[in-house]
Amino acid sequence: MGFRERGIEIKTPDQIEKMRVAGLLTGETLELLRTSARAGISTGELDAIAEENIRSHGGIPSFKGYGHPPFPATICASVNDQVVHGIPGDRVLVDGDIISIDCGAIVDGWHGDAAITVAIGEVPAEVVELMRVTEESMWQGFAAARLGGRVSDISHAVESYVRSQGEYGILEDFTGHGIGTEMHQPPNVPNYGRPGRGPKLERGLALAIEPMVTLGGKDTEVEDDDWTIVTEDGSWAAHFEHTFTITPDGLWILTAIDGGKARLAELGAPYGGS
Ligand code: MG
Ligand code: MG
Repeated sequence: MGFRERGIEIKTPDQIEKMRVAGLLTGETLELLRTSARAGISTGELDAIAEENIRSHGGIPSFKGYGHPPFPATICASVNDQVVHGIPGDRVLVDGDIISIDCGAIVDGWHGDAAITVAIGEVPAEVVELMRVTEESMWQGFAAARLGGRVSDISHAVESYVRSQGEYGILEDFTGHGIGTEMHQPPNVPNYGRPGRGPKLERGLALAIEPMVTLGGKDTEVEDDDWTIVTEDGSWAAHFEHTFTITPDGLWILTAIDGGKARLAELGAPYGGS
């Protein structure tokens, strides 16, 4: 492992294999939460499920104790107009809610980071569409990434897709990021911008891509708990995230259970996992 321009951490193939272990545990924990999220369960109960699953598989929840004030939980649980960084607790999910769940795990010193938004029961069609557009924009971002390209190729693909689908807000205050021995590393990966800029996409780079999209504007506020980010206009928001890397063969979505193989095939993007 070395550090190149602007503190970007370049991993060896063996280290990427270790990141896959952390990524898989993160992805499997989110799948468990997807099937657990239903009307009547509290966000605190979801958090307990996540922590138990991560620790019982030899991982450490990376969010717990992160930042200032220290984040108190294993997952971020953000409901409806909460976009990201919601603190799990007594709030009980009801039919018609959507919940964005962000989760990170450390295994053997390496990080995985991923997020999903889940509908609880029936939600309006425009909310289903918001979730679809947000998730698809992330995949469009992956599909735009290739060795020798630039970080903002991803940003441009995410934004272009969202804009092509209708009137949505794309958060600018929060971005994707490099990841490896720390959860948040350079470079930032904005969800908007012109292509062909920023650091070069090279072998051994690992990035988390995480579009945050709203049914209204892009502006946000922080709640009194100093963590929870809500939309300023009260519009609902979705958030999807995966950690990925690029090998000489193609893309490897480290936090996807199948490494991204199926979805990448649909997009005509090469799969580069082992
Ligand atoms: Mg995350
Ligand atoms: Mg992240």
